[in-house]
Amino acid sequence: MTETQKSRSYRKRLVERYECHCCRKEQQFCWTCACGFQICLRCMQENQWGISGNSITWICPDCGELRGI
Ligand SMILES: [Zn+2]
Ligand SMILES: [Zn+2]
Repeated sequence: MTETQKSRSYRKRLVERYECHCCRKEQQFCWTCACGFQICLRCMQENQWGISGNSITWICPDCGELRGI
């Protein structure tokens, strides 16, 4: 992949497919951060990020932002 293709796909805001940044696999759904970080449900559960009660909060390992729903 060339640098041009990389930056173009990185800037695409509407994602139709997700790729988890932890397991590097394509996913149907990932939690996303404003910085572009994506993590799938399975990796989040394995890392025990968030999920307290009926709300989900997690801290992005890339930028340290607290993400919640
Ligand atoms: Zn994953
Ligand atoms: Zn982030």
